Amino acid sequence: MKTYLDWSEYQDAGMGDAYADIPKTGGNFAKAVAVCINSRLCESSGKGVMCPSFRIDEKGDHSTGGRVRLLKAALNGELGEAPFGHPGLAEAMDLCVSCKGCKRECENKVDMAAIKIEYLAQRNAASGIPLRTRLFAHLPLWLYRWPWLGRLAAWRNRMPWLARLGERWLGISARRRLPEPTARRFSPPLAEQDPASGEGVREVVLLVDTFTHYFEPEIAHAALDVLKAGGYRVIVAQPGADAADPARPLCCGRTYLAHGMIGEARAEASRMLAALQPHVAAGRPIIGLEPSCLLSLRDECLALGLGEAAARTARQALLFEEFLAKELAAKTLRLTFKPLANPALIHGHCHQKAVGAMKSVRKILKLIPDFDFELIESSCCGMAGSFGLEAEHAEVSLGMAELALLPELRAAPNATVVAGGFSCRRQIAESGAGRPIHLATLLQKALA
Ligand code: SF4
Ligand code: SF4
Repeated sequence: MKTYLDWSEYQDAGMGDAYADIPKTGGNFAKAVAVCINSRLCESSGKGVMCPSFRIDEKGDHSTGGRVRLLKAALNGELGEAPFGHPGLAEAMDLCVSCKGCKRECENKVDMAAIKIEYLAQRNAASGIPLRTRLFAHLPLWLYRWPWLGRLAAWRNRMPWLARLGERWLGISARRRLPEPTARRFSPPLAEQDPASGEGVREVVLLVDTFTHYFEPEIAHAALDVLKAGGYRVIVAQPGADAADPARPLCCGRTYLAHGMIGEARAEASRMLAALQPHVAAGRPIIGLEPSCLLSLRDECLALGLGEAAARTARQALLFEEFLAKELAAKTLRLTFKPLANPALIHGHCHQKAVGAMKSVRKILKLIPDFDFELIESSCCGMAGSFGLEAEHAEVSLGMAELALLPELRAAPNATVVAGGFSCRRQIAESGAGRPIHLATLLQKALA
């Protein structure tokens, strides 16, 4: 079986273990699936169970281990001629929101988010790529080529009949609002475009992802303000002059990965890596604001077969909060903050939690004098990229948000809500439980 991601990291997994139960086909991908020891801990009841889809309906097939059992059956030839299109497996995999909760919490670290990318690539290869998948996956390209898409999204959001048409034709839930790109995309201030270095000034690179660039450019400006206040010279990552279409913003390929379009994801990631290599070679930290985008440089990009450039970049890629916390630990952070009036509730993006970045968020928030804040104990917000917009998932998506996140927010209506992910902020704002901001925006407000 041809696989689309590089699974060589698992080549020794389960070898010499008579009980490993590695499926007959699938090579190293099968070994990654067989990492699960079928303990069924992910199917126990209780608040802390990792998998949000299992927490919603408590069906075994909708847990991490349940997905593994179905995948093993598929790889062992038990699900028929077209195993990846098998309805039971397809439903189980579609309900995985790629939160990486299992990678962090499963006792054997099953990486179902990565397995789902391979699964979707296999399904796309077997039965073609549906129109809705193409629409969502190519979003960065559409936003660049067709600036009028913002007006179309706004019309659709204001005209229920158009939303109903979109649900019937494309399967995009009429109940949910589409994100509306801003008319003023991110444009770096001129000083940040100049990579010349000053004596003794620390240079850092800011990665402005697709979502920040087209929907919330104010977050990038807030990050620039905070970093500049800390004395850093900020270079905004840009495509090189020799890149194809140098005016097109950089993109990590996340929307393609999320839909199993590996070739397109690889092309975007390569373009990004090419642009970052001079900065990586100069030892500059690469700082990102959107967790799923920045962290794909440290995770999924390494499985795209992009060689040493990907590995070198991964070592220097940091979330905004991780960078600040690292500087704090090294006693080189020169930021002072003033008190803020409101208390705050903090919702971590699943991928932030998966890499332990909430510890960094906590350390940085403690620098704000007398700041009253609390980290919300919750799993996925349920939006998960395009998942919450899909007609068949809209209700499950809201159910996931209601498990813990929305009740906690409603209980503290005056709190400032901080959320790291674009999808999380949309889920919260749409539910009317707050008007969330990014950590960079909060710190910008708190600059002394
Ligand atoms: S996914 Fe992890 S927790 Fe669930 S059955 Fe497998 S090993 Fe156990
Ligand atoms: S990535 Fe999240 S939703 Fe998917 S199996 Fe793991 S815990 Fe469940």
